[in-house]
Amino acid sequence: MGLPALEHWATAHGQAAFRGRQLHDWLYAKGVRSLEGVTVLPKAFREHLAAQPPSGAFDWIGRSRELHRSVARDGTTKLLLGTADGLSIETVGIPAEGRLTVCVSSQVGCPMACRFCATGKGGLQRSLAVHEIVDQVLSVREVMDARPSHVVFMGMGEPLLNSEAVLDAIHCLCTDLGMAQRQITVSTVGVPKTLPTLAERALERLGRAQFTLAVSLHAPDQRLREELIPTAHAYPLEALLDDCRRYVAITGRRVSFEYILLGGLNDQPRHAVALAQLLRGFQSHVNLIPYNPIAEEEFQRPAPGAVEAFRQALQQRHVAVSVRASRGLDADAACGQLRRRLEGSLQPA
Ligand code: SAH
Repeated sequence: MGLPALEHWATAHGQAAFRGRQLHDWLYAKGVRSLEGVTVLPKAFREHLAAQPPSGAFDWIGRSRELHRSVARDGTTKLLLGTADGLSIETVGIPAEGRLTVCVSSQVGCPMACRFCATGKGGLQRSLAVHEIVDQVLSVREVMDARPSHVVFMGMGEPLLNSEAVLDAIHCLCTDLGMAQRQITVSTVGVPKTLPTLAERALERLGRAQFTLAVSLHAPDQRLREELIPTAHAYPLEALLDDCRRYVAITGRRVSFEYILLGGLNDQPRHAVALAQLLRGFQSHVNLIPYNPIAEEEFQRPAPGAVEAFRQALQQRHVAVSVRASRGLDADAACGQLRRRLEGSLQPA
């Protein structure tokens, strides 16, 4: 809930509107975990609320429970968070000089089943609600004791299958936590007919669409892309790129393309040449992601030389390109890996 809704909530509960403002401050600025903890509210009121359904003051606020924490040598912190209905999601805090990026999940699991992705192996349980997305940012802030500067929707799930909640969460992060839209990235592998709608809904909901859209491309041609991403069968590459162009036209923002490098499969110079050809004339940026090995698949990590050669081949062809540094490898880095490893061995606290 934002400030107006909290003020309304306070008055609906027979309190003065400023109680809603206090609650807003304690929820977002202080990050309290339960209504009992909001000691600025009258004690009798808190006790009254704690006695109400759903089941006490914990559920009133809707914060997650931390089930597991995995900290890498470089400080990257992966959290396994438990939802109220007993499911679990991954969230990662990635510190770098002057910034703290939170990688959030948009769904519990994912239905897209990309072959190289650990999350895809377990299918979809459900989409996350707005508060469950915002909670992840608050949880990382609390655990790492630092203010998140960037949020990327690159955790579990396909954000474009939960876009209304994603847009509401972006609204909350900007309005209630004071983040800038430009520091937020939404990553999608592509769902037919959703990109232009996302652009239009973003303008309606947020007033402007300034967050970055990242599209997981991963291959320069349809055949190879379908091999890696079975759902691409229903979304030809030309249609996906057309939708990206429409997205750019509506929002005025450049699109990023993510390209996972799988050793020997899509990381050869000819793939770079084909990718440059595909993106010619398209105002975009390519982010190369060396594959993080997962247990279920035999894919290979790219050779270090191959990554650099791929980058150079794109650069020579005037494609804006960067390589994503692998962070937190010792903390089950690949998306969905931590949850799969711990599956069944954890009980909510
Ligand atoms: N469903 C969205 C967002 C979640 S995945 C999407 O597909 O874009 C975020 C990024 O992590 C995607 O680019 C995805 O392809 C990449 N990814 C998934 N598994 C990976 C792995 N094992 N190694 C490297 N990158 C991976």
